[in-house]
Amino acid sequence: VQSDRESMLIINNFAQEYFTNILFNHVEGRSVGLAYFHERGFRDDIIKKFSLGYSLEQRDALVKEAEKKGFKQEYLIKTGLCLEGQNGYISDRFRGRVIFPVFSLSGKVLAFGGRVLKKSDKLAKYVNSPESEVYHKSNELYGIYQAKQAIVKNDCCFLVEGYTDVLSMHQAGIENVVASSGTSLTPGQIRLIHRFTNNIIVLYDGDAAGIKASLRGIDLILKEGMNIKVVLLPDGDDPDSFSKKQSASSFTEYIKNNEVDFIRFKTNLLLQSAGDDPIKRAALISDIVQSISIIPDSIVRSVYTKECSRLMDINEEVLLREVNKKKFDLL
Ligand code: ATP
Ligand code: MN
Ligand code: MN
Ligand code: MN
Repeated sequence: VQSDRESMLIINNFAQEYFTNILFNHVEGRSVGLAYFHERGFRDDIIKKFSLGYSLEQRDALVKEAEKKGFKQEYLIKTGLCLEGQNGYISDRFRGRVIFPVFSLSGKVLAFGGRVLKKSDKLAKYVNSPESEVYHKSNELYGIYQAKQAIVKNDCCFLVEGYTDVLSMHQAGIENVVASSGTSLTPGQIRLIHRFTNNIIVLYDGDAAGIKASLRGIDLILKEGMNIKVVLLPDGDDPDSFSKKQSASSFTEYIKNNEVDFIRFKTNLLLQSAGDDPIKRAALISDIVQSISIIPDSIVRSVYTKECSRLMDINEEVLLREVNKKKFDLL
């Protein structure tokens, strides 16, 4: 007998193969979906590697196909692939969208993201599968299945915001990358990365939201006892758009030249806004002290305290005392 979980995974797998088949073999899939990926510069090997797909405009295309194959509607609904309307009529959740399947660590299809092709005021840019028995968003990362070997090999993992950022990084030859998919990073997601490496490089969008999310991410990652570096992208760019403005090698070069440890990232960022104002500088120091105090390992803490004292030109012992005070507050 199959459990609910198993039935849901089977139907997700069927849906993924269906969406992919439509993308490559259906007239609408090819002329709309595949053309969209090609226009954005994605190569077929990348499209295939991530099992991308396309959902037809027709409101019940997947429902009909599932029916033909003898799948129970119950599981279309439980996985969130379909929605039950009034009068019991069920329709597809994903319609006229390119599809990004979300794989588990072991390669099972847990969920889907679907993107509209054209900017629109009426439709959300992305629609995602809901939480379900097989999909707990806060414990999953887009791209982990395709990245895990490269994460181990490089002993480091890049963290980006979006689906297309993951694709573009792979296309540029960087395969140790996962996406938090918009919502803020969770401890469960960080622990998932921690199974493979101790080192994270955050590469979020170069806008105010991306910077804010990076700052939040820093403290969560430090708390987990991991090392974190940050790469700031030019304002308005994300890894996808930025990588497409240049060759793969100059993109990789930019990352290498711009990755900084979290103290330097925070200092640079905050110094820009604080300038010489002593009150603002004090607040900034206290902010950095707060981050250092979160680090579980005392040796790592003292290394960063030293770095901070150098960058901010403050007596190291004074700084260490403050770190320990904050540490004590946290207990
Ligand atoms: P694209 O390059 O296709 O426009 P993006 O990844 O750059 O996509 P962002 O707006 O930067 O899009 O959002 C980052 C991620 O957040 C997306 O990849 C997606 O996972 C998630 N996201 C964005 N908008 C929405 C939305 N309206 N609903 C749900 N998730 C969203
Ligand atoms: Mn963004
Ligand atoms: Mn983006
Ligand atoms: Mn983008």
